[in-house]
Amino acid sequence: MAWFSCPLGIIQNLFASLRTLPTQVLISAFSYSLGLILLMSLALGRVICGWLCPFGLFQELLYRIPFYKREILLPYSLQRYLKHLFLIFFVILLPFLYLTEIGYGLVWFCKFVCPAGTLEAGYLNLILQPHLTKNIGLTFYLKTALLLGFLILCIVDLRFFCKNLCPLGLIYGIFNKYGLFRLRWNEKKCTLCGACEKICPMSLRIPKELNSVECIRCLNCLSICPSKAIVLERSLFYLPHVDLKSITIKELKHAKK
Ligand code: SF4
Ligand code: SF4
Repeated sequence: MAWFSCPLGIIQNLFASLRTLPTQVLISAFSYSLGLILLMSLALGRVICGWLCPFGLFQELLYRIPFYKREILLPYSLQRYLKHLFLIFFVILLPFLYLTEIGYGLVWFCKFVCPAGTLEAGYLNLILQPHLTKNIGLTFYLKTALLLGFLILCIVDLRFFCKNLCPLGLIYGIFNKYGLFRLRWNEKKCTLCGACEKICPMSLRIPKELNSVECIRCLNCLSICPSKAIVLERSLFYLPHVDLKSITIKELKHAKK
């Protein structure tokens, strides 16, 4: 997955080999990764996060565990920016800047951070090939500790990892405004009940952030809306009026009062 289909793995490998591989190979790899990312982002976008990502499903199952629940708000709206930092440092800069003795960089995000990789590749691999346990080193223990930390946070706060840290979601969400699936809010039908904002797993402000990079297209808001004021559009054409609403339900309620 890291080599051929996970865009994060591909980008890291590309930057890790930028100073080693011949230009022709790099151009092919760059075209492949750009094409794959564009295809996935435009065709599905964050529908992948809401409906296909196994780690997203796992987080939703974890949240069902009866335990202390609260929305974890990081200071200075960090949840909106941390994933950008992860993308810039762990996916681009560090694989490019730090080279091993063979002249090839490391895939920093996969190697040191990605909890989905630790769980789905690391542990499943150990189950399939138990003899590998003798090769386990400090990095694996550190990643396991990180994974456990994330899992606890996901039990407390729904989709904590997607909401705060996943740089892959950021990549898929780039074209949320222009992709095939978009959400539209109808002001005339909306009764400002606020149910959509309450149920949103990404704590988005609706309608302002309906088509923002953060929306995972889970469609919870759409299905809970009693007046059918939110609809899913499927169109290849960008409709600018979809994004004219820069206000939130809370602000509208306040204005009405
Ligand atoms: S805005 Fe709606 S579709 Fe998007 S994440 Fe929130 S509840 Fe899901
Ligand atoms: S969009 Fe629907 S759920 Fe959201 S505030 Fe309006 S009526 Fe309520």
